[in-house]
Amino acid sequence: MNTKLYNIAQQFALEGAIADIKALGDGFINDTFIVKTEGTTPDYILQRKNHIVFPDVPAMMDNIRRVTEHIKAKVENPLRDTLTVVPTTDGALYYKDEAGNFWAVCLFIENTTTYDRADSTALAYQGGKGIGRFQAQLADFTEPLAEVIKGFHNMRYRFEQWDEAVKADKAGRVASLTEEIGWIESRREEMLGFWSLVENGTIPTRVTHNDTKISNILFDADTKDVLCAIDLDTVMSSTSLNDVGDALRSYTNTGAEDDPDLEKVSMSLDMFRAYIEGYLSERAATLSESEWEWLAFSGRFITFEQVLRFLMDYIDGDKYYKIKYPEHNLVRTRAQYKLLQSMEEQYDQMVAIVNGLK
Ligand code: ATP
Ligand code: MG
Repeated sequence: MNTKLYNIAQQFALEGAIADIKALGDGFINDTFIVKTEGTTPDYILQRKNHIVFPDVPAMMDNIRRVTEHIKAKVENPLRDTLTVVPTTDGALYYKDEAGNFWAVCLFIENTTTYDRADSTALAYQGGKGIGRFQAQLADFTEPLAEVIKGFHNMRYRFEQWDEAVKADKAGRVASLTEEIGWIESRREEMLGFWSLVENGTIPTRVTHNDTKISNILFDADTKDVLCAIDLDTVMSSTSLNDVGDALRSYTNTGAEDDPDLEKVSMSLDMFRAYIEGYLSERAATLSESEWEWLAFSGRFITFEQVLRFLMDYIDGDKYYKIKYPEHNLVRTRAQYKLLQSMEEQYDQMVAIVNGLK
């Protein structure tokens, strides 16, 4: 067993003696390990939190504690139906090692499975159900959470960055992007109009998960039913429509996010229906009138944001997203724009599906 990891795990208030520590998968953001204990005591998840992505790990851990405590007060099985943060022996929610890395521990939830990809309507339904349940459990959580990633999905902030990027024209590419820049500008008013409804409270501010992919939903291994949403690092306060929009952007795309073949890219209305049905199966009762009204639009909003961000990074000279070839960000921009157009074309049907489930 790695003694460094062992010593870090020992900082936490674990039940039982540590038997083994093993790496679990290869996460994009954090380093995740499973800590097995001897006998019948629980196992644990130990994570090195990425403090480049999350500059304020203490605030992030406090968000997670508050959100999970709120859920625990409502569910039948508080140790299974949500994450349980395990403090250090000093009672802190994280441990900072000598190298300045932040570590945190939560209970390993036994007898569960996850899925890597939502490639069927059945899984899209389950993904919607998982986030819908999470949001429903937190629909009455009204205190603000720390903003762990600044300006996340904040369209006003995005346009401020955009205006600066176009003005600075760092990579000298603006002149060649008249058409693509037009895609953004022609939707500026519509997108900021939606965002004003969030800013003025017409659309309520609630707890958002902000990483809605299917691998962040835990399923009961026996019943195969949704158990809970995990990976709560990005929980923040905003409109919960962001979670739906982000999921729709990824679940419903018939092509890849960076598909060079635009023929392959479109929004699958079947996947849309499945996700929304799953989501509403848990969340319909707590949705406000304004959330109902803008639910289908959320997919367009988040997809538009991604078009803007990929194009902005291309204009900036590819500073933010890792690229695999020189035009990668432009290819991503075009592919996401194709998806956005497909959503716009099918918007009436999307709205009809939502209204049919009301
Ligand atoms: P990524 O960046 O890929 O989302 P991550 O580094 O954020 O990963 P998590 O999503 O928190 O890590 O966890 C990775 C995987 O470990 C999960 O998909 C799940 O399979 C498993 N896992 C995490 N926490 C638990 C838990 N408390 N109980 C059981 N399994 C867990
Ligand atoms: Mg994850």
